[in-house]
Amino acid sequence: MADYKTDIEIAQECEKQKITEIAKVAGVDDQYLELYGNYKAKIDYQMLKDKANEPDGKLILVTAITPTPAGEGKTTTSVGLADGMRKIGKKTVVALREPSLGPVFGIKGGAAGGGYAQVVPMEDINLHFTGDFHAIGAANNLLAAMLDNHIQQGNALGIDPKQITWKRAVDMNDRQLRHVIDGIGGKMQGVPREDGFEITVASEIMAILCLSSDITDLKERLSRIVVGYTYSGEPVTAKDLKAQGAMAALLKDALKPNLVQTLEGTPALIHGGPFANIAHGCNSITATKMALKLSDYTITEAGFAADLGAEKFLDIKCRVAGLTPSAVVVVATVRALKYHGGVAKNDLNEENLEALKAGLPNLLQHVGNIKDVYGLPCVVAINAFPTDTKAELDMVEAECKKLGVNVALSEVWAKGGEGGKALAEEVVRLCEEPNHFKQSYELDLSIEEKLEAICKKIYHADGVELTAGAKKQLTKLEELGYGNLPICMAKTQYSFSDNPKLLGAPKGFTVTVRNLKVSAGAGFIVALTGDIMTMPGLPKVPAAEKIDIDENGVITGLF
Ligand code: ADP
Ligand code: MG
Repeated sequence: MADYKTDIEIAQECEKQKITEIAKVAGVDDQYLELYGNYKAKIDYQMLKDKANEPDGKLILVTAITPTPAGEGKTTTSVGLADGMRKIGKKTVVALREPSLGPVFGIKGGAAGGGYAQVVPMEDINLHFTGDFHAIGAANNLLAAMLDNHIQQGNALGIDPKQITWKRAVDMNDRQLRHVIDGIGGKMQGVPREDGFEITVASEIMAILCLSSDITDLKERLSRIVVGYTYSGEPVTAKDLKAQGAMAALLKDALKPNLVQTLEGTPALIHGGPFANIAHGCNSITATKMALKLSDYTITEAGFAADLGAEKFLDIKCRVAGLTPSAVVVVATVRALKYHGGVAKNDLNEENLEALKAGLPNLLQHVGNIKDVYGLPCVVAINAFPTDTKAELDMVEAECKKLGVNVALSEVWAKGGEGGKALAEEVVRLCEEPNHFKQSYELDLSIEEKLEAICKKIYHADGVELTAGAKKQLTKLEELGYGNLPICMAKTQYSFSDNPKLLGAPKGFTVTVRNLKVSAGAGFIVALTGDIMTMPGLPKVPAAEKIDIDENGVITGLF
């Protein structure tokens, strides 16, 4: 294999335009622009109010097949598709999530795209950007501090320290903080209790920020957060602690979407970054709505595969925001399909047509869900890797076409927008096709019926089972009046099922829900189907070991 430039090398060679120029391209008036240096800006949410009566462009969701250890290239495809759309003359904005520091220093690396399809300045975007996540962490921890202080100062609300559900947050992979005992040291040092930290992207505040339509809505959602229960089992909220106003004040700038650019000068709104397991996994509603006002085509990404990311995008975000996507792109790679077809991780670079064919059912099931369950036009984007052979690429294309599945080769990683033109043409065509968008379940179903709808329609499971503990929680949540909320499934991303080892399109399995928890501020019920980590750890050799900065401020080793 030839030597390729690294993502950061390509990004640093890019001659960036001043962000004021990008704002002009996007049509953002100066009065809404808040500059963060030369290449980043925030956009005031007032713009959305002022443009309320202007028409929206079309919304295109980029999702993917079930991920394998390789990473499928959703962000890369989203960025390249946006550049490709502009190459064929379409006014386009891309809306993405902000990267978390956890993965940047852990295994995955950055999340600003790859190759010639990236957003810049990639160093800033990957390394705390405009400070939004720190603000979210601060709001999260203010609530934690006020909660423990309330107990220390006499506990008028009767909060049971053993039933506190609110955790502290920091945006770092730091397993040492997963379980801690705090408040020790004596009478004046707090109330000793078992506590823990979550990574900031797993905080409910992150989900709330991404689902809020404005400051008033933000404050209302914050006030509804359940932080724990009293000795008599009543929920205690942030409002009971009078915390929502100060928390919202801390979040005032974080609520404003960030404007940056792709390598080719396409406007990019990067804002919010909730986990795709215990939260809904896509960028903020404000950023998506702004992008829709600013462009004819908005390209956006949802985390993980289509059974998790797209499901939540369509069933939670689009429902809350009243959005209807015009088309869905399902990203697949030859490597990932071979993995689903049984090839070991180390052999993925070898041509293997048989395994490739054996992996196709995974792709076809995701495509079927988008078309048949959600009623949306859909295209498969084959994200071409340097190791793919022509025979392999031809075969995926031919097999898809044989089954009536739209497909386009995407070469954006190697060629930027030029390599995304074919996909862009196909997306434009799809946006004019009949659209029968509907959610996979209605809110007025019972919690169990909603769980069953997702498991049967999307995962193709035989059914869903609740453990005894989860059944109790279900009864309590319905009693407390949370029964009509949408469901946020926390499931392994590596399989349609709740068993990460079942690759491809497994059949004959049941999904076990072990835990049900309300995120009352975000407005969903989290259903945990296994041990979902809300505070990851670093790997044996963290990516952080390779990151450096020189005397001139030039960063290396980020990927
Ligand atoms: P996702 O958004 O699905 O997690 P990304 O777009 O962030 O995936 O890509 C994950 C990694 O894979 C990135 O480091 C990117 O550079 C690399 N990558 C993506 N597409 C390609 C490709 N076609 N060829 C080579 N590497 C790629
Ligand atoms: Mg991504």
